[in-house]
Amino acid sequence: MSWQADSAQVLTEEGLEQLLRVLRQRGYRTLGPTLHEGVIGYDEIASVQDLPCGWTDEQSGGHYRLRRREDRALFGYAVGPHSWKQFLHPPREPLWSARRDGETLQVRCEPPGEHRLALIGVRACELRAIAIQDRVLLGTAPGDPHYRARRADTFIVAVNCAVAGGTCFCASMHAGPSLAGGFDLALTELTAAASSAFVLQAGTSSGRAVLAEIAHRAATDAEIAAARAVVQHTAEHMGRKMPSDDLPQVLLRNLEHPRWSEVADRCLACGNCTMVCPTCFCTTAEDSSDLAGQETTRTQRWDSCFTVDFAHLHGGSVRQSTRSRYRQWMTHKLATWHQQFGSSGCVGCGRCITWCPVGIDITEEVTAIRASEPT
Ligand code: SF4
Ligand code: SF4
Repeated sequence: MSWQADSAQVLTEEGLEQLLRVLRQRGYRTLGPTLHEGVIGYDEIASVQDLPCGWTDEQSGGHYRLRRREDRALFGYAVGPHSWKQFLHPPREPLWSARRDGETLQVRCEPPGEHRLALIGVRACELRAIAIQDRVLLGTAPGDPHYRARRADTFIVAVNCAVAGGTCFCASMHAGPSLAGGFDLALTELTAAASSAFVLQAGTSSGRAVLAEIAHRAATDAEIAAARAVVQHTAEHMGRKMPSDDLPQVLLRNLEHPRWSEVADRCLACGNCTMVCPTCFCTTAEDSSDLAGQETTRTQRWDSCFTVDFAHLHGGSVRQSTRSRYRQWMTHKLATWHQQFGSSGCVGCGRCITWCPVGIDITEEVTAIRASEPT
């Protein structure tokens, strides 16, 4: 991220509180990180008090624990199991319903659900993931109208990461930890024992308009240097790394590698990795009718390429084995996604590693396949 001395500002915690208030007054639903069932998840937040003040997390393969920090940082943790796709591309979305009325059938297309969302605390890898979902869900006409309605009015307050999680590898994927655009406002938290200050940069005219309503002051050179140091420190402490530049070629040369069978012996085909992944977008459609046969509803819901039925064509599934399903997931993410959408489908957030019940690690799988290649 390039901080310009003439535009970098500083907010206090009171300024952050004002920011939430202004966004709510403008009709935004403010969503952000909050403690939720033993994790830091994303939910409605009304005040700075709702943020996970003084908490951090410990993550490794199949492992997540909350820990107390020694300070009162508001954003001193890595990403948790939730991602912003649960709001922008929700797990269940009614599409249309039909009602029998005598001899006629009345069909109603469901309008896009709530929009005007303000996302607070979006990390660099998550901004990249949102950009990837934009490409997938809006990149070809007609696109997804529900997603389009939400994205048209999303206000993003991004945060530079001050902590790299144990499973993070966004630096390898060129997706973080430094913010690189796609935000309305960007914050870098400068943590002190008693309270935090935030170096702030506006990225859009909407961001500047909101900033004009909040108490702030120009950042000093020392504060800008401290903000740069925060991101630099995070980049140097990534929990994992996965050289990514030649990944498509490496994987597509090794479609019959024995490692696919080895990982399949451990994989439960539970689909957790696809549910937590911020870029996975696959859905299926479900129809449900009332018992009287008067009304039916079609609902879109998240699906996973780890289910047998996902690849059901006439005559059965074309991916019967866990080996073929794991290989499909990983080679799509890291290789064929480039051909389909012009980028990797992985942003290095590490969620699929942390939330895999048996700790399968995409970076380890790539390393094992790469290691068998002649040098
Ligand atoms: S890799 Fe892990 S999370 Fe993904 S389907 Fe297999 S067991 Fe589940
Ligand atoms: S594949 Fe794993 S590390 Fe990559 S974006 Fe998805 S959840 Fe994150």
